[in-house]
Amino acid sequence: MANVVVVGAQWGDEGKGKIVDWLSERADVIARFQGGHNAGHTLVIDGKVYKLSLLPSGIVRGGKLSVIGNGVVLDPWHLVKEIALLREMGVEITPETLMIAENTPLILPIHGELDRARENQNSVAKIGTTGRGIGPAYEDKVGRRAIRVADLADAATLAARVDRALVHHDALRRGLGMEPVDRDALLAELAKVAPTVLEYAAPVWRVLDQKRRAGKRILFEGAQGALLDIDFGTYPFVTSSNVIAGQAATGTGIGPGAIDFVLGIVKAYTTRVGEGPFPAELHDADGQRLGERGHEFGTVTGRKRRCGWFDAVLVRQTCATSGMNGIALTKLDVLDGFETLKICVGYDLDGEQLDHLPFAADAQARCTPIYEEMPGWSESTEGARSWADLPANAIKYVRRVEELIQCQVALLSTSPEREDTILVTDPFED
Ligand code: GDP
Repeated sequence: MANVVVVGAQWGDEGKGKIVDWLSERADVIARFQGGHNAGHTLVIDGKVYKLSLLPSGIVRGGKLSVIGNGVVLDPWHLVKEIALLREMGVEITPETLMIAENTPLILPIHGELDRARENQNSVAKIGTTGRGIGPAYEDKVGRRAIRVADLADAATLAARVDRALVHHDALRRGLGMEPVDRDALLAELAKVAPTVLEYAAPVWRVLDQKRRAGKRILFEGAQGALLDIDFGTYPFVTSSNVIAGQAATGTGIGPGAIDFVLGIVKAYTTRVGEGPFPAELHDADGQRLGERGHEFGTVTGRKRRCGWFDAVLVRQTCATSGMNGIALTKLDVLDGFETLKICVGYDLDGEQLDHLPFAADAQARCTPIYEEMPGWSESTEGARSWADLPANAIKYVRRVEELIQCQVALLSTSPEREDTILVTDPFED
């Protein structure tokens, strides 16, 4: 039996939802290990549309255990809402189907307030946060002043934890011209949500260890993308957690040796939301066309995503830092009809050819992409379910991508539909 980690290999929006859903049907346990309630997934199952942003995708499928690991930051008020919405749609959620790690740090309303106050003040370098308090909640975790799930069980401990956090927050708020936190109101709000959160609280590391020993299949569901990783992404335009596959271990409490297959989700071209370096970005008609054909608009904001050709340099890098055993290549159909396709195979930095993106911001800005051209295809690949359905040039493109990123295609996706997938290697069976 195998345990599989799914990680976005670019800047997010690679189409993880469809692949995770495909895999979660085959898994016994589905665990989230990083991020917060910003992992917008839309799942369509038997004609019903489920919108999830915090709970693992497995929750909508009966008979699975969904797990929120300690690497996640949890907004308890959002949890209560998401559970209520899903229950209204007929999804059964019980302590047997949902477990939340007791050592998970909480996102408090003061974290969202801080996010928004900073974004308003800091005109120099906007990071483009979602304003949900995820970054400030991670700061408190590292600052050892977070409120964690287990703290909700005892009023005296909770009050002491809140007081500790407010020493820091009130000082910060004063500097930002904000009112001090209403301590008693915060404690009262926490007391209201505590029973719901505690109902699902569990020693997740222990449960996962038991499941693993019993030969159950565990799927670790990553959010966002490896180029947004706090250490290996395009810092500071990154998210506030580790995103790469190693986080599946520290974010749930399973040892790295228990991970058998790391699947990278890779879009057949490149997109990025918001600010930050993007060497292969297009500002021409080709970029426009990728955006339109790929529906590259933010699901919540409607904001246009930046688009560019496939950047093999960056994906080779994320395949290495996550130790990908295979990739799911998505949205190949978006490339249908291009006469010529380009792939970024290296960067030119002041006349020198680089095979990776340097970390220094000034060097990143001076990197210009070196492209290789390939002939496109006029036939449609949309909905293809076998290699035989693909035009020869599409197969050549996929093979070249594999060669350049030094990782093989395990799954190939050719439409938003679940069944429109070519299976090469089943990550659970490999
Ligand atoms: P995530 O943020 O990585 O989870 O990405 P999403 O699951 O939001 O996927 C982005 C969009 O791409 C969704 O609207 C999907 O339905 C769509 N999508 C996924 N795979 C494919 C594909 O192979 N072809 C096309 N055309 N659309 C796809």
